[in-house]
Amino acid sequence: MKICAATGNPGKLKELRRILEAQGHQVLSQKELGLDLDPEETGTTFAENAAIKAAAFAAASGLPTVADDSGLCVEALDGAPGVYSARYCGHHGDDEANNDKLLEAMRDVPAGKRGAKFVSAVCFRMPDGRTLTCMGECPGQVAFDRQPGDYGFGYDPLFIPDERGTADGGKRPNTEGDSYAQLTPDEKDAISHRGRALEALEARLEAFLQEK
Ligand code: IMP
Repeated sequence: MKICAATGNPGKLKELRRILEAQGHQVLSQKELGLDLDPEETGTTFAENAAIKAAAFAAASGLPTVADDSGLCVEALDGAPGVYSARYCGHHGDDEANNDKLLEAMRDVPAGKRGAKFVSAVCFRMPDGRTLTCMGECPGQVAFDRQPGDYGFGYDPLFIPDERGTADGGKRPNTEGDSYAQLTPDEKDAISHRGRALEALEARLEAFLQEK
């Protein structure tokens, strides 16, 4: 199926593309569709914001559309930055400033109290307005320092997931303590919040498309 990806975030687009294309779909970016949208995320939950983005892009593209709204929820910070993850530092989409602010906020938080989870809400919207929303979560810890790798974007260098994917498509404990940024795309997608939400979407998509 041809699907419009409702995002302007290159890191997210790359992941949506590789996960959905592995499921047999064709993903079209807003650039490929000649769109330039940045809808205001006025919701207070991931699901609300995903629905806002899906509605805007589906209306503009006329295509089945998938939107992801996601973020990092840190236990010691009462769930922050949460839905404000992209603009935690005060302006939108500055990954380095966001990471600096998170490290500073967590400076005095000891090991064992640095639990966090990435959350993704994926909203799939048909041109007729019907929607299907699926959630995915990935538990882990906030690192004491950046652990950059060859991959990833956003808070990836600061997030140590509890699990990682394996070459045969399974999952295992992340005993190495590698960050999201140090995992290969396959190792991340198998356990990531977005990977899990898109896996749930794929499992429910056929039945949803047959509903009227
Ligand atoms: P939004 O969903 O576009 O509002 O922004 C989500 C923000 O959460 C991004 O700008 C990133 O900072 C962060 N984020 C979401 N998913 C990931 C991920 O897989 N790795 C790292 N950061 C992420």
